[in-house]
This record gives sequence, C-alpha cells and structure tokens, in this order.
Amino acid sequence: MGRLVMKFGGTSVANIDRIRNVARHVKREVDAGHDVAVVVSAMSGKTNELVEWCRDASPMHDAREYDAVVASGEQVTSGLLAIALQAIGIQARSWQGWQIAIRTSDAHASARILEIDGTEIIHRFKDRQEVAVIAGFQGINPQTNRITTLGRGGSDTSAVAIAAALHADRCDIYTDVDGVYTTDPRVVPKARRLDKIAFEDMLELASQGAKVLQVRSVELGMVHNMPIFVRSSFDEPEDIDPHGTPPGTLICSEEEIMESHVVTGIAFSKDEAQISVRQIEDKPGVAASIFGPLADANINVDMIVQNVSEDGKTTDLTFTVPASDYNRARDTITASKGKIGYARLDSATDVAKVSVIGSGMRSHAGVAAQAFKALSERNINIRAITTSEIKFSVLIDAAYTELAVRTLHTLYGLDKT
Ligand code: ADP
Ligand code: ASP
Ligand code: MG
Repeated sequence: MGRLVMKFGGTSVANIDRIRNVARHVKREVDAGHDVAVVVSAMSGKTNELVEWCRDASPMHDAREYDAVVASGEQVTSGLLAIALQAIGIQARSWQGWQIAIRTSDAHASARILEIDGTEIIHRFKDRQEVAVIAGFQGINPQTNRITTLGRGGSDTSAVAIAAALHADRCDIYTDVDGVYTTDPRVVPKARRLDKIAFEDMLELASQGAKVLQVRSVELGMVHNMPIFVRSSFDEPEDIDPHGTPPGTLICSEEEIMESHVVTGIAFSKDEAQISVRQIEDKPGVAASIFGPLADANINVDMIVQNVSEDGKTTDLTFTVPASDYNRARDTITASKGKIGYARLDSATDVAKVSVIGSGMRSHAGVAAQAFKALSERNINIRAITTSEIKFSVLIDAAYTELAVRTLHTLYGLDKT
C-alpha cells in the first residue's frame, strides 16, 4: 500500500464521459489499496475561454480579478469528479486551493507555491479512506486572502507540490500522450517515447518549449526528489495490470538512468521575437543601457548576440524576448533611445527557437557543430545561437521550425526505428 497523487489534464476531463473515465482510473488505484489525492485541470479550452472573457471585459484588467475568473475552471472539474467518484461507490471530497490551504505568493497569474497544509487530507485518508479531489492551478495568498493562479499549465505544479506535501510515493501525470517523447510527437511522428528522463534534461525540455510539463513542476520534482510518471489517461482503466509497469515516462534523478545518449530530446518554441539595435556607439555601458530598462520592465531577455562592426566605432546588438512582451520591449528601447544612442531598430516576430538538449553534452565536444552543418545543408539560416552545458539553441525563421526539428531529430539518431 502506498500514497499516490494522480493529475489529469484538460483533455482528460474534457466532458462528463471523460470525467467518468478518470473516476475509473482513480477507483483502480483505490482498489489496489492506495491513498489517493487527485489534481484536476479545467476542461480543455475552458481556461482559454475564461482568459478571453477577461480581455473582452477590459484589456487592462486587474490581475486579482483575472485570477478569480480563471481559477473557476478547476472548481467545476473538481466538483464533477468528486460526484463521479461517489457515483461508483468511492468516498471522495473536492478541495479548492483556499480550503486546503495551498498558500502562494501574491504574484497574480504566476504565483509560486509557498506552503501546503496536508494535515486534513492525510487525516481523511486514515479515518475514512476518502479520496481528495483537488482543483489544480490555484491557491490563496495568506496576506490578502485572495485567490491566485500559478501560470498556464500550473496544475502540473499543483500536483507535484501536493505530492511532496502529502509525502506521496509518486506523482502520476495523466495526459493525452503516453509519456515524454524525444520531441513533440504531434509534430514529429518518428519521435520516440523515453522510458526514463533525468530531472535536469526534463527541466531544459520544458523550459525550451515542450509543454508536456510546466517548468516549475519539474523544478519541484527535482528539489523534493519526487518521481514523476507521465502516462496516458486514454488507456482503458480495466486493461491496466495493477502489478505491471504501464507505458509512460519516469522523470527521476540521473543516477537511476542506466543508458544515456548524448542528445535526449529536441524542443521548440514559436513564442519568440527578435529585436536588433543597430549602430550603437561601441563604448562601455551600452549593454547596461539596453538591458537595464528591459529588466526594470520585467521583460525576460533570452538570446543575446553582439556583432563587432567593421569601422570599430559602432556595434549591433540582437536579442530575443517572449512574443507576448515584444511590444513592451520595443517601446522600452525606443523610450531610452536618447540614452542608448543607436541609429535603427529592426525586429522580427516570425522566428522560432529550436533547442537540442542532453546531459551527455557535458562530456562530448562538437555536438552543436554537427547541427550547424545539417541546418546549412537544408538552407536554414541561423539568426542567433546560445549554448549552455547541456543544451544549445538556434533562432531561425518560424517557417522552417518543423524541418529543422525533423532534421536534427534524425541527425542525433532519435528517430523511432
Ligand atoms: P494536459 O492538458 O494534460 O496538461 P498538455 O497539452 O499541457 O496536456 O501537454 C501535453 C502535450 O504536450 C501533448 O499533447 C504534446 O503535443 C505536447 N508535447 C510537447 N512536447 C512533448 C514531448 N517532448 N513529449 C510529449 N508531449 C509533448
Ligand atoms: N487550466 C490551466 C491552463 O489551461 C492549468 C492547467 O491546465 O494546468 O493553463
Ligand atoms: Mg498541461
């Protein structure tokens, strides 16, 4: 007997039939003798609709009220799943973030979990064998008593944080794919499912755009050494052998992974924008005059490339920001034009970042060089490059994203055979 957290994403709870299917998955684990806490997302498409309603009501809406609105999707599915469980004879109770409580920072729309009080839920496991059905994505700020949300995809983070707070043996993330693949299987049909992946590699995959898990959930998994198992909710619950190992991917510490490839996977993101500041006077302090105001405006700068100009007097600086911050970033630079002193601002929003990830890169040279050659053979122009110990990224025209991902996937021997 053990303790499990089971998290179900939007497509897994998309309608009442799917919620009934989730209830049968939960019953399977309860029947096997486990204490179970379930974390649910909103029905698929619901959060987008709620976000759209807020924008429609006012483009400059109050972030606290945005959270009050968007947290409601998860309230509905938690109640519905508790009803579906009770209907098949499983003792269950729904919990909103504030009822537990899941205490968070006051950064509305991207709050961080500070503390979770698992006492009552653990008590009810012991006293009544009651399943806790918890609304994902939401919490409460203890100072203001207002509802907060954890950022898009945040139910993954709720699940891992709850697993840690309840001292669960594992956190199962049920989704619409049967595991973590070498790249998005919807884009590259030859992508291979990974049996295991190290927290470090998963963290990079998620940060670079693989949306199968929210980045913060992987960070928490790593900090608490909580095994996370990504699996499909589309398997028939009755077909699963309770004592066997179902298809899926275990995210765990590096030591538990026997065979290791140089490249683990490829991620991509079209949510990028490029800004080039042209002919800046080449003197100490120019980078600070550009990136200082961007930092003050809370804009995350990712890739940075500085070219040395031919005359030695001026320089060009190119950097990327999230597409959603593009307008603000441009305005910020334009507002500081007098201080920076540049001739022209060029920008592009139809760009994509493709990242190759693998902790094996630590001990292998020349991995990136192979990619540059393969991309050039496909006539794909690289606009910017960044590298770190276990990954490198290239910025390219968005139109070539799929071609670049497929090319690199084959190059590093990741294709399914
Ligand atoms: P949920 O609603 O269950 O949270 P998401 O849509 O957030 O599900 O995440 C699952 C999706 O992530 C998949 O449908 C898949 O298209 C996408 N994805 C991107 N990269 C990967 C990857 N490397 N492995 C598996 N899925 C991936
Ligand atoms: N419903 C939220 C979203 O769509 C949280 C989640 O699904 O993880 O972002
Ligand atoms: Mg998700």
